Amino acid sequence: MTRRNQRRTIPLLLALMGGALWPAHVLAAEPPPAAERDPELDVLLTQKAHDILERVRLVDGQARSRRIEVSADIANGVMTVALDRNFLPADYGPSFEDQRSEISFGLLHWAEQAAPFSRVIFLYDGKEIEYYFPEIKAADDAAREAGEALRRIRGMPGSGMAFVAAGHGYFYSYKDNRWVTSRDEWNGVSEGLLTPSYAEELKAVIEQRSQMPVVRPRVQIMGATHPPSGEEWWTIAARYAIAEQYPGETKIWNTYAGSALWDREEREDINSRPLLANHHRAEVAIHLHSNGEPSGTARGTRVIVQPGRPMDAALAQSVLCSMKELIHSLPEYGAFTVAPAPHALNKGENREAHMPSIIVETAFHTNPDDAKALLDPGFRSAAMRGVEKGYRLWATGKACETLTLDPLPDVQIPVRSSLIVPVAFKGNPQYPVVLELGVASCVGGNCTPSDEEFMDPSRPVQLELLCNGSGAGTVRWRTRLRDADGVVTEYQEFNQSCVLT
Ligand SMILES: [Zn+2]
Repeated sequence: MTRRNQRRTIPLLLALMGGALWPAHVLAAEPPPAAERDPELDVLLTQKAHDILERVRLVDGQARSRRIEVSADIANGVMTVALDRNFLPADYGPSFEDQRSEISFGLLHWAEQAAPFSRVIFLYDGKEIEYYFPEIKAADDAAREAGEALRRIRGMPGSGMAFVAAGHGYFYSYKDNRWVTSRDEWNGVSEGLLTPSYAEELKAVIEQRSQMPVVRPRVQIMGATHPPSGEEWWTIAARYAIAEQYPGETKIWNTYAGSALWDREEREDINSRPLLANHHRAEVAIHLHSNGEPSGTARGTRVIVQPGRPMDAALAQSVLCSMKELIHSLPEYGAFTVAPAPHALNKGENREAHMPSIIVETAFHTNPDDAKALLDPGFRSAAMRGVEKGYRLWATGKACETLTLDPLPDVQIPVRSSLIVPVAFKGNPQYPVVLELGVASCVGGNCTPSDEEFMDPSRPVQLELLCNGSGAGTVRWRTRLRDADGVVTEYQEFNQSCVLT
């Protein structure tokens, strides 16, 4: 059986195993293929890594390292970035994770022109970061075990609720002694101020189409001022909104109590998001971000999952597939880059979650064309409808599949009669759907194009073809299906002949 067939017939099993685009050995539990190297690619990536390291903003404890070597294992889709211990941070926190994702996406931009990559591993004197900061691995293991235990007890974590978090927002920096955003503005986009509009869009579509209540941690009402900062409340990071709403739940929003770190409230902000999702026993956690990388050349949509969590990877795979479908349904974004598979990076927002959790990096604010897309409400709506659809398909065990119309046979119909022709299609269209019937050519008589709307997914889609006149003739129809989101099939053509009996 091919993988494609497996995906069609047992989507749920496959979803649990890790998704169709994950390497075959992950699905089949075979040993991974031997590493496959391209020495020229390694040289190029190492050169690019040097360029990135020259410019990257250092975090506390780091010295600007000159020793860096990148090796790309093409067969397994794994890129390894080897640094020395000078590049270890004093402490593992969000600035360090951000720096790692900047380096990762800066290098993936080049690596993925050669082959797909799904994982980036950083080594410091040959050891992963968890070796130096075992508490990170402990938190990762604890969250994974808690999630597995919940699923064992009740199938799914199960409150019927979804958690949607807009990334970043203002936090108080004890280095600058003022309220700051953790992201610079690029191409007119300030990430933490952009993401709430994405969260609002996603919340509305999840409520409507997945029929689930949605928890959002940041304040959503416009106009109210957050007195300590003087900024508007909606611009403030989740940590402060959670503290207002749940003053007694310090385990959610005050996880660095007693710390003297300058970014302790930013750290609390990152942690507070998954901890609030856990508190609500949400079914799913979706973190909305835009992406950044220093060269400004990387583009497109990425979804990030925690390494070693196959359920999350399957969800991410489905979300990417549906985002691609919806984004590409807009003619101006028909060629927009959407990653073919999720990327596994260790991130605080996913790491602490007890439920499947993904970070959606909708586009790169560091690229001018991507930034323009991020600011376009049409793009935003399509991207977020894609996220919801990907979640819904995954949650109901359905495979994401391209909307296609089966070929239609030529038909002969006696004059002054009609024929019902069933129309079969594949995919997961959003109803109502419209069957467009256009005229490619018309010989003898009048050929009238039409659009027929179908409201009910449980009713068959069909064509009623009429031969009203008394004379013979032939029409060549050009037909396609269009769904409520504007997703269309390719055209199919077929002949209808009206014949004298
Ligand atoms: Zn972000």
